[in-house]
Amino acid sequence: MAITLTAGTSALADAPKEHLKSLDAKQIDNTIAPGTDFYLHVNKKWMEENPLTPEHARYGKFNILSDTSEARVKDIVLNLASTNPQPGTVAFKVSTIYNQAMDSARRNAEGAKPILADLKKIETTPHEGMTDLFLWMHGNYASPFFSAGIQEDLANSSVYAMYIGGGGMGLGDRDYYLKNDKRNKEVREAYKKLIVTQMRNAGYSKKDANRIMNNVMKIETALADSALTREESRNIPAMYNPRTFAQVKELYPNIDWDRFFIETMGIQSPEQVIVTELKSVDQANKLMAALTDREIKDYYLWKYVAQAAGKLSDNFSDASFEFNKVMSGVQQQRPRWKRALGATEGAMGEAVGQLYVEKYFPQSSKEYMIGLVENLRTALGKHILHLDWMSDDTKLNAIKKLNAFTVKIGYPDKWKDYSTMEIDPALSYYENMHNVGMWHQKDLYSKWGKPVDRTEWGMTPQTVNAYYNPLANEIVFPAAILQAPFFDPEASDAENYGGIGVVIGHEMTHGFDDQGRNFDAEGNMRDWWTAEDSKAFTEKTKGLGAQFDAVEVLPGLHANGTYTMGENIADQGGLRVAMTAFLDSQKKKGVDIATETIEGYTPEQVFYMNYANLWGQNIRDEEIRSLTTGDVHSLGCNRVNVTLRNLAPFFKAFSITEGQPMFRPESERVVIW
Ligand SMILES: [Zn+2]
Repeated sequence: MAITLTAGTSALADAPKEHLKSLDAKQIDNTIAPGTDFYLHVNKKWMEENPLTPEHARYGKFNILSDTSEARVKDIVLNLASTNPQPGTVAFKVSTIYNQAMDSARRNAEGAKPILADLKKIETTPHEGMTDLFLWMHGNYASPFFSAGIQEDLANSSVYAMYIGGGGMGLGDRDYYLKNDKRNKEVREAYKKLIVTQMRNAGYSKKDANRIMNNVMKIETALADSALTREESRNIPAMYNPRTFAQVKELYPNIDWDRFFIETMGIQSPEQVIVTELKSVDQANKLMAALTDREIKDYYLWKYVAQAAGKLSDNFSDASFEFNKVMSGVQQQRPRWKRALGATEGAMGEAVGQLYVEKYFPQSSKEYMIGLVENLRTALGKHILHLDWMSDDTKLNAIKKLNAFTVKIGYPDKWKDYSTMEIDPALSYYENMHNVGMWHQKDLYSKWGKPVDRTEWGMTPQTVNAYYNPLANEIVFPAAILQAPFFDPEASDAENYGGIGVVIGHEMTHGFDDQGRNFDAEGNMRDWWTAEDSKAFTEKTKGLGAQFDAVEVLPGLHANGTYTMGENIADQGGLRVAMTAFLDSQKKKGVDIATETIEGYTPEQVFYMNYANLWGQNIRDEEIRSLTTGDVHSLGCNRVNVTLRNLAPFFKAFSITEGQPMFRPESERVVIW
């Protein structure tokens, strides 16, 4: 097969390192053998030395980076504020939002006042005005009953398509409404209490607040009943159901579609609408006809108050915190300055990001990363060509896709222009933040009918994270993840490949996980697999899913192997591909890793140790329960221990053999990419 892989370039030209940099050998717990529990072997000491503080539901190595990033952003924002900026400038807008978010005295004096006129509007709407009210809610506040919006067309990702789908549930997942075990009941009760408290804060009597709560629960439970399960939500092709505008009108006649798109988005009725969750929209349609005006208004009142709560007086945020306590186990609210920074970043993240990279992101980091990414790309190509379960036809398509990956590193080439965003210190914080939200919504809808701009980023540079976007077939690494322990120019290659190398491999593998594999080199949803290869892939994923299903995260609570499938495939792929890239890079440099040691460890050991190091964290039981319901990622300890138990080179590196808990017999291992 004549397939040219992108040529790899090695940016790692320096001499081998003798000392660990991202890792600290003193932190390794030698009383726990690597073959007993590798995660604890690497992380237990750190976990003991860094107990959770009351404000955190979990705290790990990722948080150390986020804290650094946050402290830098705080510096930037406070510096802007101290320059006494002119109205209309970015500095003025950023510092006004931050200062208003910090100004609890003003917000507490205003109480619920900023939202009272809108609540009254909902209350006093006559029956014949209910359609107007529905459109006003959808266009300006929350999306009651169902969701609607634009996104790249999955089947033709260079243009935008119109989507409608499920939504309207405050608790997000259907299980919270429908299941009757202790945990789900506990969350449900906390949610009911939250609704009553917030409506009381908004000025309603106890009796009215209780009525509102009961009507909200009735409606949201009905929506939950028709919502997809977490497992079903992994199946992207099943969520692509194009309907003509005429069909939508016929299928869901209780919604005024002739007015819907133009009045809520400023977009003329589209010729085609993609329905992502057929049952959910059907249920929304039925409910809208079956409910009384009183029930619908109560639901709207709550939707309105829920979206406003974070921007009002402290009694609202205190109530939200009481709810968060139940959800995540946190014992103390985040300090106000952190919440204020979060709001500022949500409003104008790229404005802050531009200043962040000027100050904290050296060009050399970008060059180093480009070299690393190309080495990883070459390594993944080798893996694909050597797969024993895939035909040459599918391999050819996979390589095409790999070669077409776009790589974004550090920060966008083009920054978002906030010049038309208006922030007025005379307005309340709530009004300003509402205007900010509307600005972002308008910005999104202005893209309708235009070609998709692929220079845009989905994360700010100061975010400690990375992503793969299947619709653009791109991998993206914001500046803030390029720090130790992920990446350090002073660290050994083994540490950097076990850190940022695995992250790069992880994002690349997302292009070939249970969801990403549905998209081709151009980012279009198209089946480029032979039927046999699809079957072989699915069989393998079943094996991997079963491994995670078998893990008990808390007594009686199991991990969800189907829901976390994509991330588990990506973790394994990332580890395998990064190791290949590491070995190749050392060969190219003429380093004989068989004889090299770093503080007494072999380079392979250091690679796996730094991977485990990334995921070290302390976490509360409540948070484990919430994440098991709502997070597609496995818990840190399982990303390490369950994933590594499939990898023969890991066993070899630490001489782990049959009889040790970390060992998994070859016949039970699952290797995908
Ligand atoms: Zn991922």
